[in-house]
Amino acid sequence: MKKHNFSAGPSILAQEVIENTANAVKDLNGMGLSVMEISHRSKDFQAVMDETVALFRELLDIPANYHVLFLGGGASLQFCMVPYNLMKKKAAYLETGTWAKKAIKEAKGFGEVDVVGSSSDKNFNYIPKGFTIPSDADYFHITTNNTIFGTQIHEDYDSPVPMVADMSSDIFSRPIDISKYAIIYGGAQKNLGPAGATFVIIREDILGKVDRHIPTMLDYKTHIDKESMFNTPPCLPVYACMETLRWLKKLGGVKVMQKMNQEKADLLYNEIERNALFVGTAEKDSRSLMNICFVMQDKYQDLEKEFLEFATSKGMVGIKGHRSVGGFRASTYNAMPKESVEALIEVMQEFEKKHA
Ligand SMILES: *Cc1c(COP(=O)(O)O)cnc(C)c1O
Repeated sequence: MKKHNFSAGPSILAQEVIENTANAVKDLNGMGLSVMEISHRSKDFQAVMDETVALFRELLDIPANYHVLFLGGGASLQFCMVPYNLMKKKAAYLETGTWAKKAIKEAKGFGEVDVVGSSSDKNFNYIPKGFTIPSDADYFHITTNNTIFGTQIHEDYDSPVPMVADMSSDIFSRPIDISKYAIIYGGAQKNLGPAGATFVIIREDILGKVDRHIPTMLDYKTHIDKESMFNTPPCLPVYACMETLRWLKKLGGVKVMQKMNQEKADLLYNEIERNALFVGTAEKDSRSLMNICFVMQDKYQDLEKEFLEFATSKGMVGIKGHRSVGGFRASTYNAMPKESVEALIEVMQEFEKKHA
């Protein structure tokens, strides 16, 4: 049976990305060697790194004064690298979910944290509005897509101070005005590739303003100066990211992707609203196009387990909601085909016929 992969992360990749990567694992460029067993300083791997960076620049329209880095440590290491490199006294954070809270916790170890807005009062089911970013903060940090709670910031904010964004789960899902950000970072394993690579898009002029000693590996400058080759980069994950970006470019880029994502999300949100058994958890104007969270209507609560089993029997994978929301979460990342969303909708309708 065909599996429909709605996993939140690591998550679905385009089939051709998996196939091309598998081929490069066996034999890169007909060299008779695997991409896993050649030097990261070899000309063949350097070409992989160069193309990946070039595709990042091209597809996201990244201005020349930004660098694109590939590091280890996941988005979680960025929670500490950002304040390590940028915080003198105070930073502003928008608290929109679990990942934002983790970023805030790390920042508190380096100085004062001003939480300028929070949606914790309603279990993070909306993006706060009308908050003020203090102009004396060293930077302002946001999480553009809240993977666990299914909310998303759909615009590029104007910030009076350098803006830093965790875009782990919505990078390449829409066009972004990069010039509004000082740093954009994320783990690759949601929309870009396999786990193991962390991307960082960084404007160099924001560095060099703190007095503390920064360990070499945690200093962005190290990785900028060595173009992600200070130490061994995550070679195989970077290769797979390159294949994803080739695939994305062939499809027409992020504008086309945004349209496709909107279409898929509309289909599923409309069904959640229509179907008598289910209700969405996020407020409408904050709903994510990447992670769609829904629960059973109150009077059908006891059907939750049964729906999960029913959907699983029909090939749906990874739709169990995160424990902090409950219910269900369908992640509809870039690589998720519309057919899989339609298959899930069919399952929801079949279940409704049986029970409503
Ligand atoms: C998954 C996720 C993370 C954690 O990423 P790691 O690479 O596992 O550290 C951080 N932020 C967001 C928004 C995520 O979705």
